[in-house]
Parts: sequence; C-alpha cells; structure tokens
Amino acid sequence: LPDTLNADYVIIGAGSAGAVLAARLSENPANRVILLEAGRAGGGLFVTMPAGSFKLMLHKEYDWKYPVEPDASLGGREMVWSGGKLLGGSSSTNGMVYIRGQRQDYERWVSAGATGWDWDSMLPYFKRSENFTGPASQFHGQNGPMKVGHANDRHPTSELFLKTAANLGLEVRDEYCDGDQSGVYELFTTAAGGTRQSTARTFLRDARGRSNLEIITQAMVDKVLFENGRAVGVRFSRPGAPPTELYARHVVVSAGAIGSPAILMRSGIGPAQHLRDHGVEVVADRPVGRNLQEHCGYTMSKFVNIPTYNSPFGPLVIARNFARWLLTRKGPMSSAAVQVMGGFRSDPSVPHPDLALNFMPLAIDMANNRPEMHERPGVTLGITCMRPESRGEIRLRSAAMQDKPIIDHQLLGAEEDVRRLIAGAKFAEQLFATEPLKNHVVDNYFPATLPDSEEGWEDTVRMFTGFGYHPVGTCRMGGDDAVLAPDLKVRGLQGLSVIDASVMPYLVSGNTNAAVIAIAERGAEILAATR
Ligand SMILES: Cc1cc2nc3c(=O)[nH]c(=O)nc-3n(C[C@H](O)[C@H](O)[C@H](O)COP(=O)(O)OP(=O)(O)OC[C@H]3O[C@@H](n4cnc5c(N)ncnc54)[C@H](O)[C@@H]3O)c2cc1C
Repeated sequence: LPDTLNADYVIIGAGSAGAVLAARLSENPANRVILLEAGRAGGGLFVTMPAGSFKLMLHKEYDWKYPVEPDASLGGREMVWSGGKLLGGSSSTNGMVYIRGQRQDYERWVSAGATGWDWDSMLPYFKRSENFTGPASQFHGQNGPMKVGHANDRHPTSELFLKTAANLGLEVRDEYCDGDQSGVYELFTTAAGGTRQSTARTFLRDARGRSNLEIITQAMVDKVLFENGRAVGVRFSRPGAPPTELYARHVVVSAGAIGSPAILMRSGIGPAQHLRDHGVEVVADRPVGRNLQEHCGYTMSKFVNIPTYNSPFGPLVIARNFARWLLTRKGPMSSAAVQVMGGFRSDPSVPHPDLALNFMPLAIDMANNRPEMHERPGVTLGITCMRPESRGEIRLRSAAMQDKPIIDHQLLGAEEDVRRLIAGAKFAEQLFATEPLKNHVVDNYFPATLPDSEEGWEDTVRMFTGFGYHPVGTCRMGGDDAVLAPDLKVRGLQGLSVIDASVMPYLVSGNTNAAVIAIAERGAEILAATR
C-alpha cells in the first residue's frame, strides 16, 4: 500500500448502494470513508416531492441519459436508459415502488454460486434499512432510516383496479414483502410520509455530519489504481481541475449496473480481448459487462370517464395540489405514480408468478420523448416479465471516461419473453373489459387498435415494450466463472469490491431498489467483518 492513505474505504458512486455503504461504514469512528459521486448534491423540490419524479426522468443534469444501441428485437427502436446522477443516485429519481422479489429469486442466486444469499438470509437486511409505517410485522423493520409504507394518496381507480382483479380471480393481499408476490396489492412505497425516501435523504442525511466521512460531489471516477494485483486507490476528475488520485485500504465500486462495469473495464478488469482492442492493459480477465438483465415491460393505456392525475391538469390544479402537499404532505403530489401491483402466471403450468402488473392512475404523453401529462383522463397498466430470459451486454466505446459505454440489449431477444408478454397483454385487455373497471373505460389510448392475430399481438408487444430501468447482473457474483465471489470481492484481486445492482446473478421478480439497498446493508457488514 502507498505510504499515505487518504482513507480506509473509498466508495465510487453515492446511489442506492453507495450511500448506504458510506453511512454504515462511517458508523465506526475508526473507519475513514470517502464517498465520490459524479453528480451534484441535488435535493431540490423535484427530488423531495414524490410527483417530481416526472421532471427528473431524463433530466439534463440529474440523469445520465445513457444511449442504447438500436434494438432489433424492438423493431430497431433506439431508447435512452435513465439513471440518477446526483446524491442518492437512482433512489433520488426512481418511481419509489417498494418491492423485494420472491423467495425463489434468491434461491436462484444460490444455485448460480452466490452461496449464502438465500431469502431467509436476506430478510434481516431488508428489515434493517426500513422504518415501516404500517403495523409491526415479522416481515418489516421499524428501526431503519428509510420510511416505507403506503403512499399518502390513493386514487379511486386504484380501488377499482383491485376490485376488478379480484373479480378475475386474483387474491387481494395486504402483504407482498414475504417472498411471495402473487395476487394484487396496494403498494408500499419509499414515499411514505409524503416525501421521497432516497438513500441521500435518509442514510446520508444521518451520516453527513460525521468527521470520518467525506463526500465529494461532481467527482467523476476514471479508474481504479492497482499495485501488484491489489487495488490501492482511484483516479477521478472534478470540473476545471486536473485528475486527482486518492489512496485507500479498500476500494468499493458502487456506480450502478452501467457505471460499475465501465469503471472496471477502464481499470483493466474485463474480457481480455475487448480491453486490448481499446488499448487497456489487462489486470484480470473477467466477464464484466456480460449478463445484462432488465425487466422488459409492455405498457398499455386507456382513456376513462373520471378525472385522473393527468386530467384535469393545468396551473390551477397544480397550484392547489402543490399547496396541499406543502401543508399536509398529502394529495396527488405525495404519491408514487404506480399505486397497485400484482403478480400472476403467464400459464397455469408455471410454478411461481412470472408476470407483474403495475397500475397507474394517469395517462402519460411521450410525444416529445419526455413524460408529459396527457390532456384526457386515463389510466396506464404495465405488464412486466419478472424474470426475463433476454440478455444484453455492456462494452467500452473507448477507454476515455467521457465516452458513455455501449449498451447492447436485445430486450426481447428471447422468444419466451415475447410469449409471456403476449399472454400478459391479453390478460390486461380482459381486466379492462371486466367490472367495475370496464364501466369507466371509454377508449383505447395505446395501442389504439387491438390485434386480431398472434402475429399482430407479437408486433404490438414488440412496439410497446420498453425498459423497467432495472439493469442488473453486469458484475455478477457467483462461482469460479463469475466476476465476484459471494463476498462481493473481485475474484483474484485484493482490496476491491463491487456492491450495487450489478452484482445480482439474476434479476429479482420486482423493482430493484430495495434489493440493492439490502445488498449494500449486507455488503457493509461483510466489509466491516473483514477490515
Ligand atoms: C427512472 C427510474 C425509475 C425506477 N423506479 C424504481 C422503483 O419505482 N422502485 C424500485 O425499486 N426501483 C426503481 N428503479 C431502479 C432502482 O432505483 C435502481 O435499481 C437502484 O437505484 C440502483 O442502485 P445502484 O446503487 O446500483 O445504482 P444508482 O443508484 O444508479 O447509483 C449509482 C451512482 O453512481 C454514480 N456514478 C456512476 N458512474 C460514476 C463515476 N464514473 N464516478 C462517480 N460516480 C459515478 C451515479 O451518478 C449514481 O449516483 C428505477 C430506476 C430508474 C432510473
């Protein structure tokens, strides 16, 4: 190790995982921790107020806006991958859905070589982060920094949706954080109490005043530095300043499932030939960037005959709802967009739910490539493959950190995912044709016309399927062939861990924020135990 150490731990990325790690590791006054974040502190109104998430998505300053290669499986569409670029990372910009995945997801991790990451072992880490606002429960924690609970507003169409799903045989459940996501349920959110519970506003706020924690924003990390197979520090740049090096006992990469593989590859850890092609000296030949997984989601929308969150809309409604939120933390501005979710099987032979429902009491207009409120009242339903078969890959565009990586994802590359989504899309149409919801549906928004053949359904699904913004798996943990060992350290190297969404061997069956936070809670414990 160099003679002068700046810290015990340097953490790259202050997102869902990095902020938790910085907070937990700095609880021990003997640890000196430096947290480096490429984005700014952020924290304005759009972050605090749950409805502000619409303004943050693809925001010019607070979003990475990663370009994605044209996707042949989606008819050549080119999409942009959203990711938070500020303290709290994507937990500061996300949709605030709180969900954990199913028991079988974690058993699957174990079968991929991630020994010890089964559901029963993970449950305590989910609970540790939580300050659950509902009644005491064996599935929820009440002493953690992050408020989790029902949103402060529930639109009448959400109630209608629950009743309709029940009429089609889905069980209405109060609890879905017990490892079973079947049925339909009103969501728990990280907007409990009416304000966003990002990891910046919870974990970091508690930790910021500690003298052993230094947070450096606008610090874009180029690479990890090595000496004799050991990570010894990092090189980063701040605007207008020359590159700086910091030295630490242990380097933790928490830059997310797109940022982390890019940093590792620039540092010489990745597929050897690919690194050489970009003139990067190989430190370790590992399958970094491979195994990219994402929730493919088919979205449909209907116009309805009752007011929804998007209509009536305008300055007066905004002013009234905003005042209500300011004074009471209640009303539409206090709520996550998705209010009801569910899990069901694409086919009765499937042992566990493989499709998710995401119901939103609003219709979104994406005509300008940014989410806007549609002028007519509407509701939107997403159908998501919980455990997609399709895989993608992240590669270096060049060795320069300014060049965003190449994201190559055939989102519907696997026929099985298309087949599932078609089954889900048909079920969704059935829902809207069932009472009581059907009494309120007046027209299709999109798709405007419904297909009448299997080929037609396939085209429609490929046209209206997009990202869930839940990329994982690009620095997966697992057996000998994985990037990381089950203790989250890079195989074959000293002093280097990856802790974030990229470590998951397989995508979990729900949105990924809670699972990432639980991984970070556990990762902090592993690091503390091996200091
Ligand atoms: C629009 C959107 C909506 C979502 N909705 C939900 C939801 O409702 N519920 C849910 O559970 N999940 C949701 N997710 C997913 C969830 O938020 C993410 O899975 C989770 O936040 C990922 O955590 P992470 O720590 O891996 O990465 P992030 O939270 O993205 O953190 C990575 C951090 O690293 C920083 N960084 C990257 N590169 C560098 C670099 N070179 N140098 C320094 N810093 C760097 C980034 O700026 C960022 O702050 C959503 C995500 C998005 C983008």
